[in-house]
Amino acid sequence: MEKAQNPFSFNIEKDFDNPQSYYDKIKERFAEERDLRLNYRPEGTDQYITELEGNLQKYAIDPHGNSIPDRSPLSDEVECLFIGGGFSALLTSARLREVGVESIRIVERGADVGGTWYWNRYPGVACDVVAYDYLPLLDEMNYVPTHHYAQGHEIYAYCQEIAKRFDLYKLALFHTTVTSTLWDETERRWIISTNRGDSIKAQFVICANGTLTKPKLSKIRGLESFSGHSFHTSRWDYEYTGQDLSKLFNKRVGIIGTGASAVQAIPKLGKNAQELFVFQRTPSSIDIKDDWKTDPEWAKTLKPGWQALRREKALINSEPRQREATMSLSREEKIRRQENANIDAMMRIHKRIEETVADPKTAESLKPWYMMMCKRPCFDNEYLPTFNRSNVQLVDTKGKGILEIGSDGPIFEDKQYPLDLLIMATGFEVQKTGTYNRILGVDGLDLEDKYRDGVRTVLGIHSQGYPNLFIMGGYQASFRFNLTDVLQRQGDHISGCIKHVRDNGYKTLDVTKDAEDWWVNEVISNRGKTTRAEDCTPGYYNFEGETQRRQDGNYNGSFFKYVTHMKSTLDRIEELFDIGR
Ligand code: NDP
Repeated sequence: MEKAQNPFSFNIEKDFDNPQSYYDKIKERFAEERDLRLNYRPEGTDQYITELEGNLQKYAIDPHGNSIPDRSPLSDEVECLFIGGGFSALLTSARLREVGVESIRIVERGADVGGTWYWNRYPGVACDVVAYDYLPLLDEMNYVPTHHYAQGHEIYAYCQEIAKRFDLYKLALFHTTVTSTLWDETERRWIISTNRGDSIKAQFVICANGTLTKPKLSKIRGLESFSGHSFHTSRWDYEYTGQDLSKLFNKRVGIIGTGASAVQAIPKLGKNAQELFVFQRTPSSIDIKDDWKTDPEWAKTLKPGWQALRREKALINSEPRQREATMSLSREEKIRRQENANIDAMMRIHKRIEETVADPKTAESLKPWYMMMCKRPCFDNEYLPTFNRSNVQLVDTKGKGILEIGSDGPIFEDKQYPLDLLIMATGFEVQKTGTYNRILGVDGLDLEDKYRDGVRTVLGIHSQGYPNLFIMGGYQASFRFNLTDVLQRQGDHISGCIKHVRDNGYKTLDVTKDAEDWWVNEVISNRGKTTRAEDCTPGYYNFEGETQRRQDGNYNGSFFKYVTHMKSTLDRIEELFDIGR
C-alpha cells in the first residue's frame, strides 16, 4: 500500500538538472532553524544554571551512596593526586604504576570510582561507542566486553575492577570534593583542600574531573515552584521510580530535553509510565544501533595486545588522506561536497523517521534540521517507535523550549501539563577544568583569571605557572567521539612526563611561555578546519552559538597530529619546560 502524503512534510524535491539547488534549499532551512533558536535564547551558555544551590541543590545530590561515614580530616602527603575517579584517573594510574609510582590518591565526589558511569545510572544507560574501543585497558585487564555496545552497569563494574587491579582503593577518598589546589613555592608541592577539611600535599596533581561532570538546568521561569517530584538524569531516583520503573505505572511523567541521555531513557519511561510527555526543543538524529552479544569464538581468537592494535589503527585512520580525485579541488568545493554528503545522511535519518513514526505530525517534529555533527548523533532502535505508543506525547516546542513551569508542571503556549514527575535531561557544564575547585598557581594566580583572556595551555594538558599540574579532558586538546582515545593518550603523556622528573631526580616541570604561545597558535590556526561551528544550530558543541575567542574550545587538527605533537613534546621536554631541580 502506498503511504499517504505527509501533510506536514517540508518536501524538497531533488532537481536532477541542478542538484545543488536541492542542497542549497536544505541549507537555507538549516540556517532558518538555527536562527530561530538563537533568537529565542540569545544568551548562549548563560541560559543554563550550573551552580545548583538553595532549592536547586537537590538536583546535584548523590542518590547512590549514602554509606560513606564521617571521618577525621586528613593531613598527609602523596606523590600523585587525581581530582576525580573516572576513566582519566583509572587509566593514567595504570601507566603510573608501570613507571613505579606507588603513592597514588584519588579524591572523588562520588562514593566510588567510575565518574560518568558512577553518576549516570538512568534506565537504558549505555555507551554508543563500540565497547571494544571505548573500554580502556582491555589488554591489561584481559577482559572482553559482553556486547558490541556496553551498558552502563557493565562499564561501572569494569571501572571498579580497574581500581582493584591497580590497588587504587587503598588511598582513595570518596564523597570528598576538592575545593582548592594551591601551589606552595617553598615546598614545591601542591596543597589540596577538600570539603571534609583535608589538607593534602602532593608533588603531582592531575585534574581528572571529566568533560561533562556538573549537571546543569535550563533557566526556566518558575522552576522552583514545581510541586511534584523532580530530578536530573544523572541523579536518577530509583526509590521514587522503582528499580524496574514499575512505580511509574500510575504516574504522569515529563522529561525536558532530547539529547543522548533522554534518547536512551525515554523508551523505558514510555513502557512504564502511565503517561509520558517529552518536551522537545531540538530533535537529536537517531540512527540504527547495531548491537550484538560478543561471540565467544571471536573473543577466543583475540591475541594479546589486540586492543592496542585497534587503537593504533584508529589513530592512523584519523589522519584524513587526500584522495586523488579530490586533490585538485578548491577548499570551497571540498567543503561543499562534504556538506552535501552530510545532508544526504541527514535525509536518510528523516526517511527512517517517516517509516517508523505513525503520526505524520509527530514524525515531522522529530526531524532534525542541521548538519550531522552539530550535535551528538544518537543510535537507538526503540526511541522512535516509542512515539507510536498511545501513552506518549511529544510536545514540540519548535526551538523555543520550555520557558515556564507552574506548580503543576511545564507550560507551553498557555497550556500547563500537570505532572507527578519531571525529569531534567538538560545536560552538563562542558569541559571545565576546575570543576568545584579553585586552582592557584605560582604567585597565587587563579587559573580562571589566567584563562579570562583566553585558554592558554600546551596540548590542553599543561599551563604555564602551574608546575606539576596536568589537565585531562579539557579545552585545547583533541576531542573524539571516543573520548577514551584522547584520555589514554593523555595518560601516556602524563606518565611520560612524571617518569622524566623521577628518572632525572628533578622536582618540578613547568611549561615555558614560548611553548604555550606555540600551542595557542596551533589551536587558532586549526580552528574551523573540520566544521563551521557558526553555521550549526546551537548546542554544547558550539557553546550554544556564542561567539568564541579563537583559542577557546578544542584542538581541531587531526587526532593523529595531536598525538604526534604529544610525542614531540615529550622528546623535547628539556627545551619546552622549565625544570626545577
Ligand atoms: P545534552 O546537553 O546533549 O542535551 C540537553 C537537552 O536539553 C537538549 O536536547 C536541549 O535542547 C534540551 N533543553 C535545554 N533547555 C531546554 C528547555 N528549556 N526546554 C526544552 N529542552 C531544553 O545532554 P545529555 O545529557 O543528553 O547528553 C550530554 C552528552 O553526554 C552527550 O552529548 C554525550 O556526549 C554524552 N552521552 C553519551 C552517551 C553515549 O551513548 N555515549 C549517552 C548519554 C550521554 P537543544 O538541543 O535545543 O539545546
